Amino acid sequence: MSDLVFLGPPGAGKGTQAKRLAAARGVLHISTGDMLRAAVAAGTPLGLKAKAIMDSGKLLSDDVIAAVVEERLAQDDCSAGVLLDGFPRTLVQAELLSGILDRLGRTLGHVALLEVPNDELERRMLERAKEGRADDTPEVIRRRLEIYAEETAPLIGYYDERGLLRRIDGLGSIDEVTERVRSATDGDSAA
Ligand code: AMP
Repeated sequence: MSDLVFLGPPGAGKGTQAKRLAAARGVLHISTGDMLRAAVAAGTPLGLKAKAIMDSGKLLSDDVIAAVVEERLAQDDCSAGVLLDGFPRTLVQAELLSGILDRLGRTLGHVALLEVPNDELERRMLERAKEGRADDTPEVIRRRLEIYAEETAPLIGYYDERGLLRRIDGLGSIDEVTERVRSATDGDSAA
């Protein structure tokens, strides 16, 4: 049993593809963004803390989000492997994840990176803004792309050096990308 990480800029279709891959492999899809949105909707202490940060497009602190992930991964339904979507998002979080996996006796199988050029990302995110997410205004979209470039993109080199990275072209139809994700992640031991 090993876990997977799905990496990619906001707007790359990461959530959609992560859900499909998790279903195909029979592992649990864990999205920190979805968990935080649920916490905001439920009005929990975490949600109260997260709401303003999320609405501004910034990141929660590494320690807070890592604690959320560790608590989630310790639950029984994660025993058959998980696909992490939205975590880690910084180099510090990648190191924290490594500690979490060690403590829980889990291993990281590989990291799938969905690659989409920036102009296409902006176009897709503005389209999605019509669905009404508070963090999808043009200003917040640009901030989220900047934060990805500064904080999250360094993870690409980090995981590449460790031989874990699988690059996937994120352009094309959803089904085409799903097929690429499937073949890029075939042969790993997560399922
Ligand atoms: P997402 O749906 O993954 O784009 O996440 C939505 C928002 O939740 C992000 O813009 C952050 O404010 C917050 N968030 C989600 N995952 C993390 C993380 N790993 N570290 C810090 N903040 C996060």
